[in-house]
Amino acid sequence: MVQINENYLKLQAGYLFPEIGRRVREFQQKNPQADVIKMGIGDVTQPLTPAIVKAFHEGVDEMSKASSFKGYGPEQGYEFLREAIAKNDYQSRGASIQADEIFISDGSKCDTGNIQEIFGYKNVIAVQDPVYPVYVDTSVMNGRTGNFMGNGYYEGIVYMPCTAENGFIPEIPKEKVDIIYLCYPNNPTGTTAGKEELKKWVDYAIRNKAVILYDAAYESYISDPAIPHSIYEIEGACKVAIEFRSFSKTAGFTGTRCAFTVVPKDLMAYTADGTEKPLYPLWFRRHTTKFNGVSYPVQKAAAAIYTPEGRKEIRATIDYYMNNARILRESLSKLGFQVFGGKNAPYVWVNSGRGIKSWDLFDKLLHEANVVGTPGSGFGPSGEGYFRFSSFATNENVVEAMERLKLLKW
Ligand SMILES: *Cc1c(COP(=O)(O)O)cnc(C)c1O
Repeated sequence: MVQINENYLKLQAGYLFPEIGRRVREFQQKNPQADVIKMGIGDVTQPLTPAIVKAFHEGVDEMSKASSFKGYGPEQGYEFLREAIAKNDYQSRGASIQADEIFISDGSKCDTGNIQEIFGYKNVIAVQDPVYPVYVDTSVMNGRTGNFMGNGYYEGIVYMPCTAENGFIPEIPKEKVDIIYLCYPNNPTGTTAGKEELKKWVDYAIRNKAVILYDAAYESYISDPAIPHSIYEIEGACKVAIEFRSFSKTAGFTGTRCAFTVVPKDLMAYTADGTEKPLYPLWFRRHTTKFNGVSYPVQKAAAAIYTPEGRKEIRATIDYYMNNARILRESLSKLGFQVFGGKNAPYVWVNSGRGIKSWDLFDKLLHEANVVGTPGSGFGPSGEGYFRFSSFATNENVVEAMERLKLLKW
């Protein structure tokens, strides 16, 4: 008798985005004439930029000739891309990351989940609440949690509330934790962490022999020079942190697929008897065994992001989204919402300020303004009462959505 992985049965069926999709479809069936503006799912809308497309085309052309054709590439990624990343994203910021500590992949979603494979099952995992659902759901699938409880939490995970009261920076948990997922700039709250705040976590990890899994998918949206772009800008972080980056939001690669994970060679973990072991060889083994590399044209396209033209172009796209974020922030503040984030991140996190629950606000905006956002409670119980607007919509849609919200009756 073949048995299933029963951990999957613990997963909550009403996953956030399918539920949003269901409610929107139902509304559109009943109101076919309604022009619904979608600012819910965090997907980009602006196309790949010319320098990236040119490199992408060149990569395809090389594949079309016997003289420049490429079969399997290095599993870890082509040297030209890893060198560009090490130099531009790390060494230029004073972080001594080397090209061979970088693993190119097809996405941070997979990497942030797959990384759990190299850690033992007795580790206690801590996550921010609200949180990007992938960290929690993959923990459940891997059997690292108990059941889902009535209060909206899984047994066995340590949830760290991030609310307006603590500036969306979690307090160090009272219980000892071993694996800490941190995401800054944060999805869903759009808030950031400064060097001093991150230093507290790095120091905690050093003291407690813990590891930080740092998701910096929105790093390129930082404009404030005081905000660190990488956890490795914090002293000691190379010994306790793995960093995830993605070209998805940086350069519109959500449909093209390219990301990377940094595992420093100085990063240590321990066997059950306390023997220190580097994590690098484990991730190297995992990656080279289970992954055969990102396609050559895609890596060529990704490398173009680091050319002067590429940089200028993606900056213009990011500025376009951040102008949307500014409009969202200003309009929603005027409408009486408490507004957070949206300054160094593409998400604007609001509280209606009227004591309305997240899903009730979702339904009100959908039915009365035909505007779709994301209910904060879908990211975790501490998101209740909050709502996420994404600036990845077109400028016209953002302006129109805010005009419609002005007409709402409360
Ligand atoms: C969008 C996003 C990613 C990127 O995922 P990809 O698989 O690289 O597209 C990673 N982390 C967070 C928090 C995100 O919102």
